[in-house]
Amino acid sequence: MKQKLDKILEKYPAAVFKNRKQHIVVKDDSAEQPQTIAANVRTIPGIITNRGCCYAGCKGVVLGPLRDAVVLTHGPIGCGYYTWGTRRNKGRTKGDELNLLAYCFSTDLQESDIVFGGEKKLYQAIREAVDIFKPKTIFICATCPVGLIGDDIHAVALRAQKEFGIKVVAFSCEGYKGVSQSGGHHIANNGLIKHIIGTGEKAVGKYSINLLGEYNIGGDGWEIERILKKIGYEIVALIPGNGTVEDLKYAHKATLNVIQCHRSINYIGDMMRTKYGQDWLKVNFIGISSTIKSLRDLARYFDDPDLYARTEAVIAEELEEITPQIEEYRKICKGKTAALFVGGSRAHHYQHLFKDLGVETVLAGYEFAHRDDYEGREVLPTIKEDGDSKNIENLEVEPDPKHYRIFLSKEKYEQLKNEIQLNDYTGMIREMKNGSLVIDDLNHYETEEILKLLKPDIFCSGIKDKYVAHKAGIFSKQLHSYDYSGPYAGFRGAVIFARDIAMGLKTPSWKLVTPPWKTQPIIEGSYVC
Ligand code: SF4
Repeated sequence: MKQKLDKILEKYPAAVFKNRKQHIVVKDDSAEQPQTIAANVRTIPGIITNRGCCYAGCKGVVLGPLRDAVVLTHGPIGCGYYTWGTRRNKGRTKGDELNLLAYCFSTDLQESDIVFGGEKKLYQAIREAVDIFKPKTIFICATCPVGLIGDDIHAVALRAQKEFGIKVVAFSCEGYKGVSQSGGHHIANNGLIKHIIGTGEKAVGKYSINLLGEYNIGGDGWEIERILKKIGYEIVALIPGNGTVEDLKYAHKATLNVIQCHRSINYIGDMMRTKYGQDWLKVNFIGISSTIKSLRDLARYFDDPDLYARTEAVIAEELEEITPQIEEYRKICKGKTAALFVGGSRAHHYQHLFKDLGVETVLAGYEFAHRDDYEGREVLPTIKEDGDSKNIENLEVEPDPKHYRIFLSKEKYEQLKNEIQLNDYTGMIREMKNGSLVIDDLNHYETEEILKLLKPDIFCSGIKDKYVAHKAGIFSKQLHSYDYSGPYAGFRGAVIFARDIAMGLKTPSWKLVTPPWKTQPIIEGSYVC
C-alpha cells in the first residue's frame, strides 16, 4: 500500500510530496503507537482542498443553529449568502420563541464601506434587526475584509447592547484566521463561555445533562433527545442544534456535558469543567452499538439503579422496533467497503454505523481535525501551536466562586476514568482496522487517485466530492447534508441510513455507467447496394 501511495504522491513537486506524506497514515498495529499524523496546519496553495474558513466554523457551524439569535454577517454579501440554509441544522420553536433559522442577515458591505469603514452600517443593521425581529440576542460575525479595514465590531456591539438593552456579542472570525473551519469553532466557543453560559439561573432535576456538539442535521438531535428523554434525562441546553441562547444561559446548572462532536465543542467542555466543575463524556449516537454503548456509559456516570434499569428497557424496546428492518438492509450492505472523508468527527462516528451494517471502512480522513481527534487526547501536550493558529485566542477560565461544584468523589472519578471516556477522547485511528488508510486534508487529485486505488463501494464525503465520485461510477453519500435525508442518529436514524445506503447501492443506473458496446460484441455489417 505504501508503495502505491508513494506512486500517487510522486506527481507532486518535492516540497509538496514531503508535506503531504505526513498527512497520510496506513494503520499498522505493529508500528509504534499512537501512529502520528500531521493535521491542523495550513493547506498547500492551489491543491484544491475541501476546507472552508474560520467564519464558516464560527457562524455556519456553531452560532448559526441557535434559533433565537440574529446571527448577523458583517461583510460583503457572498459569505452570508452561501451559508444561508445550506447546513441542514433544523430547529423547532416552542411556544412564542423566535425561530430565525430561515433568515440570512448581512450588512452587505459595498466599496464605499471598505474605503470609509463599515461600523456605521453595522450599527444601522443592528438597529433594523431590533426593530423588525425584537431578538434578545444578536451575534455579529466578521468576514475577511472586516479585520483588514479595522472595523471595531466589539465596540459597536457594546454600544448597541447598552442602547437596545439586549445581548450583542461580536466574534472576530475573519475567514483568514487559523487554517480551516476549526479556528471558528474555537472563537465561537470562547464567545459563548465569556458572554452567554452561566448568565441565567434555574433549578434543574437529578439527571440533567447538556448535549454538546450535536447539530441536529436532518433531525439527528431530535432522535437523540427522544431516546434520552424516554430514559428520563433532562436536557438543559442543546449546543447548538435546535438550541436557544436562552437555554444556554443555564448550561452551567446541568450535572454532565455530553459531547458528540469533540472537535467543534471540546473547548466549551474543558472550560465548563474548569469553571463549573462539570465533567464531560464523549459519546457517539451514530450507530446502533455505539448508541447503546453511549447510553450505558451515561448511566454509569449517574450510577443509579433506576436509571440502569430504564436504560436497558429502552435499549431492548428500540432494538425490537428496528431489528427486522436493519436486517433486511444489512443483507444488501454486508461485505461492501466504504471510504469516509468528512469534517472533524463524522469520519469516525460513521465507522460504527457501517460496522453495524457489515460494511468495512478502508479509508477515513478529516478536513480540519487536530491530532487529538486522530490519535487521542493523550497527544495534546505534544502538539505545538504554529504561527497560523496563534491568532486564535486560548481563553483561560477560573473556577466560578458561586457555581463551581464537585460532582464525583476522587475514587469514583478514578474508577470511571478507566471505564468510560470521561473528559477524554481516544481518537479515530485506534479503532481502525490494520491496513486501512487515514488521510488528513484530502484534496481533489488524491481523491481521484485513491478512489481508483481502493475502489470502495461507497464514498462518503461532501457536495464538492459527490459528483466527482458519481462520475467515476462510485456511489457517494453526503455525510454533511445527508443528501437531504436523515435523521441518521440513534436507533431510528440507523434504519434511515441503512435504507439510504441500500438504495444507493441498488440503484439500477450503476449498471448503465459503461455503454454496452464497451463490454459486448458489436454486430458488424457492410452496406450492400
Ligand atoms: S474566506 Fe472570507 S470571504 Fe470567504 S466565506 Fe470566509 S469570511 Fe467570507
